[in-house]
Amino acid sequence: MDIYKNSVHSAGNTTVSVARGSKADVLVVRGENPGFSGQVIDGEFIAPENHENAVVLRRVFPFTAPVPVLTRKRSFGVGDRLGIASYGHIRVFRKYDAAPVLAQQSIRELTLTHRDFDNVLDCASYAVFREDWQGGFGADGDHLKTDKEVEYALSCGYTMITLDCSEHIRNDVEDMPTEQLKKEYTPNAELEARYKDKSFKVENHEIHFTAEELMRCALIYGGAIEHADRIFHSYIKGKPVDFELSIDETATPTTPTQHFFVANELSLRHVELATVAPRFCGEFQKGIDYIGDLKQFESEMAVHAAVARRFGYKLSIHSGSDKLSVFPIIGRLTLGNFHVKTAGTNWLEAMRVTAETDPKLYREVHAYALVAFHEAKKYYHVTTNLNNIPALDTLTDAQLPELFTQNDARQLIHITYGLILSAKDENGNSLYRDRLYANWREHDELYAKRLEQHIGRHLELLYSQIPQD
Ligand code: ZN
Repeated sequence: MDIYKNSVHSAGNTTVSVARGSKADVLVVRGENPGFSGQVIDGEFIAPENHENAVVLRRVFPFTAPVPVLTRKRSFGVGDRLGIASYGHIRVFRKYDAAPVLAQQSIRELTLTHRDFDNVLDCASYAVFREDWQGGFGADGDHLKTDKEVEYALSCGYTMITLDCSEHIRNDVEDMPTEQLKKEYTPNAELEARYKDKSFKVENHEIHFTAEELMRCALIYGGAIEHADRIFHSYIKGKPVDFELSIDETATPTTPTQHFFVANELSLRHVELATVAPRFCGEFQKGIDYIGDLKQFESEMAVHAAVARRFGYKLSIHSGSDKLSVFPIIGRLTLGNFHVKTAGTNWLEAMRVTAETDPKLYREVHAYALVAFHEAKKYYHVTTNLNNIPALDTLTDAQLPELFTQNDARQLIHITYGLILSAKDENGNSLYRDRLYANWREHDELYAKRLEQHIGRHLELLYSQIPQD
């Protein structure tokens, strides 16, 4: 039996390790069985890596259970949509001290990948066990919008809740003429006493509220503040759970003044925030570098970071995949206190492995993605131009991996992941999913190496300008 060398762990009279099975890893249980279900094969008790056994594993080996990690100086979320990436991710976190959030998935991602919160967490737990990662990891129910979604993630033991307030944020106010603003705004003596014509000093920045700015803040964010207040006090308060406020999925960027307003209001309501994800200026499109004015980004980031420090939380940077040009700025201005989330780039690295190792399968998937693109585009804001992608029949097999250096090709594969993974033939059999998983299983060492390099590059840049103290 092929036992992974870091996977042997003992607790009491039990020793559990992980063996490489032909199709999937399995647990090997020796000594007393604390409750794993399985069967004896050739004199060994073999337990499959299913949900039931993951629950037992987390009970017997507590380091395989998630913990709140956002209170640590810096943290990094790696959404593993496929359930196979943590093995590579763990290698990165052995080199950098950012606390990993290995399980991180939104409801949209769960739907598109046909997974559930249990499965996402189980995959992380099994990886942590096999690789002997004892540094702790978080589990983030990402972009949750409703009470039901928050309750669902908490019931699965998630240690971080990212509350997406986008449905409570008004997108029609930013450009509203003053006259109409006045009509829409309900006078609020308390708010006016707090903000109207007042300035706040935040480190060496000054944040000023004109009467008009206050009306805009109240109209845009009033609903989101109510929502966050209610969710926090109903579900999070007093629990070992990190609470993140996400206001990034909006039509317009969050100005530093608006960020201050939201933070100050929530602080007055005793909402304890681990992180806030504003929407920054410029564009954080999926799977490609930052698009926008770096100077403006830098000057606004300086204020956002100062506001976060003032209220005692970390800035959270969403859609962090491949934003290589802004990472040094983020590391420097947050003084190394940040939370960054990536997801799609881990899937892209998996597809790059397929392009390298099974060109025939890659060509099929790519051709399907070109057809599926218009359907997928409904759910994402991307500026992909399919005409910029070289036609498949002009590329040799050896050139296929180079597609992943081209932004349009990256976004094509990025946003179609759900359709690719769920595509079925007329008999209901998966068109690509099973073959892709078999390919990734066969080349799992290559995939782990690629993630180590690629996510490592993200952290290297984030760390590159952190001021020494
Ligand atoms: Zn987001």
